[in-house]
Amino acid sequence: MPKSYNIAVLKGDGIGPEVTEAAIKVLNAVQESSQNLTLNYLYGEAGYHCIAEHGTNLPEKTIALIKRTHACLKGPMTTPETPGAPVSVAVTLRKMFTLYANVRPCRSFPRVESLKPDLDFVVVRENTEGLYSGAEFELSPGVGVALRIITKEASLRIAEFAFKLAAKRKKHLTYVHKGNILRITDGIFKDAVKEVSLKYPDIKLDDLHVDAAAMQLIKKPETFDVIVTTNLFGDILSDEAAQVTGSLGLAAGANIGETYGMFEPVHGSAPKYTGQNRVNPTATIMAASMMLEYLNEKDAAAKIEKAVIDVLTEGKIRTADLGGSSTTNEMSNAIASKIS
Ligand code: NAD
Repeated sequence: MPKSYNIAVLKGDGIGPEVTEAAIKVLNAVQESSQNLTLNYLYGEAGYHCIAEHGTNLPEKTIALIKRTHACLKGPMTTPETPGAPVSVAVTLRKMFTLYANVRPCRSFPRVESLKPDLDFVVVRENTEGLYSGAEFELSPGVGVALRIITKEASLRIAEFAFKLAAKRKKHLTYVHKGNILRITDGIFKDAVKEVSLKYPDIKLDDLHVDAAAMQLIKKPETFDVIVTTNLFGDILSDEAAQVTGSLGLAAGANIGETYGMFEPVHGSAPKYTGQNRVNPTATIMAASMMLEYLNEKDAAAKIEKAVIDVLTEGKIRTADLGGSSTTNEMSNAIASKIS
């Protein structure tokens, strides 16, 4: 039966438009080869470049557009760092649509240098609270406070998600915290994981302090299957894991809630490379694959993954981050041409 989906596309800032267009090119190749799959792209404005014109990085019109779609493909966006500036679009959307699970697969790819061969694990990061709550204030001049909000409700929800994922994989879950120092907030998180674990007796469960986890990701990354952790720890560990397994240019992430999913590269807008046609579009292309998987279009998702692996295995087209000199366009053309 033909399936048709509305996809919100937010191209973003910096290298965002280049890598998002690359992913659309590959999605179009998938549509052409699939016959019964239609993707209607609804392009929305969001990001730093919107602020001057709209006074916000996420105009109401874009929010309304997103609400008419089944999923969102999002390019990276630049977030200003001055106090009082608009909050990151990714953070706003994650909260607005309760996209509570940030899922970042970390795997080795053929002929891509990684710290160890055959790595395959996933970082599941709580996506709606923690230090990303952005609740900060200056108590007195020169004394700043940031609130790290951790709730039982959100911790149970992310733990449940991580256990379900581990059950489908190698049945091993590691929860990462700093409970020796953050006894109340990470105490709540730890208790929630342990409570949910009672429902999953077949899953091997262990835990690590975040500093030890950062070290273990370098020393023995092959020992991980699914890692679950709070927001900022997950952000840091998944960037580290992306480099351990190859390059930020290959790492994709999903933001999943009960009724909506948003898919994006793990990397940011890399402003210094804007418009140079030199960055790796694969992370966004893999994000598009994760989006199709979420929409239950598993064959279409697999086509993208296979095309990426074919191009990397051949090794003829490689962007600078992978030690080559191919352009963004050459990489996306090569991947699109392998879709069949
Ligand atoms: P970044 O990920 O943009 O860039 C860090 C470095 O990673 C780059 O200099 C480059 O060497 C490399 N890199 C990133 N993407 C690459 C790609 N596709 N191919 C090859 N190499 C790549 O991180 P940053 O410099 O910390 O942040 C820049 C901006 O991006 C900031 O404004 C930040 O807030 C924003 N950001 C946005 C998101 C998002 O929209 N979800 C995520 C992270 C950072």
